Amino acid sequence: MRLIITVVCLSLLVACGPRLEPAAPGSAAPPALETSGESEDGAIATPDSLDRLFEDSETYVAARDALVDRFIAPVVEDARVVAAMRAVPRHSFVPAGALGAAYRDFPLSIGYGQTISQPSLVAMMTELLALEEGDRVLEIGTGSGYQAAILRELTDQVYSVEIIPELAGIARGVLDRLGYEDIHLDRRDGYFGWAEHAPFDAIIVTAAPDHMPPTLAEQLAPDGGRMVIPIGPVGNVQTLWLVTREGDDVQMERVLEVRFVPLTRAAE
Ligand code: SAH
Repeated sequence: MRLIITVVCLSLLVACGPRLEPAAPGSAAPPALETSGESEDGAIATPDSLDRLFEDSETYVAARDALVDRFIAPVVEDARVVAAMRAVPRHSFVPAGALGAAYRDFPLSIGYGQTISQPSLVAMMTELLALEEGDRVLEIGTGSGYQAAILRELTDQVYSVEIIPELAGIARGVLDRLGYEDIHLDRRDGYFGWAEHAPFDAIIVTAAPDHMPPTLAEQLAPDGGRMVIPIGPVGNVQTLWLVTREGDDVQMERVLEVRFVPLTRAAE
């Protein structure tokens, strides 16, 4: 059972203002990528070649079904979310060297110090958003693009932002190859959301800040907007919160303990 913890006023969140944090330490400078073409949004360059496998096969479909039967269906009630998890080929979102682990219920490295989230957590977080067809949803932290594809199975208004240009480029290439050209991607610091397309019926944050970014609550639809966000210290467990907004009231419910990569901040 979830516990309702806090009701805060939006103006209070905004008054607190953004706290500046240093960018996450440690990830090596990524190799230069040869690029071709610009995305529809103009800011994303996709690499010429992608280290991904796009073919599906009976073996992968069977592995995907087994993953869903064992780890998703028991914890997720929403049949549309379960169907999305069966439909999206997770193996196409992981580097070819990790193909053998694509249908295990683990996060996996996607390079640049980042990970594709654990499938059962993707499914649980998606269910919490309670998306209906036509809802406008914003994802912070595109990463591999997998979560964005799952969202696109549920609504045709998907926006996703990624701070690492190379990952944004790879995700754009993968999503286009798989037919998800109409997912809107941008390379930007998601701490500030994506104001041009706000308000959002739902926001999903897949990297952890150490406090609630006030701009994200502001960009939630005031008539029942939902946000799922992990908040907590870098490198430790964080708390996953379900945030709902009604007018200026922002209600936060604690959901479970999770472990995400940190939400980093643009250096410039
Ligand atoms: N949803 C992703 C999981 C990605 S891991 C998937 O399905 O694969 C989290 C991602 O958040 C990383 O790619 C990281 O680079 C990105 N990220 C971290 N801080 C960010 C920020 N301030 N704005 C946008 N993206 C950010």
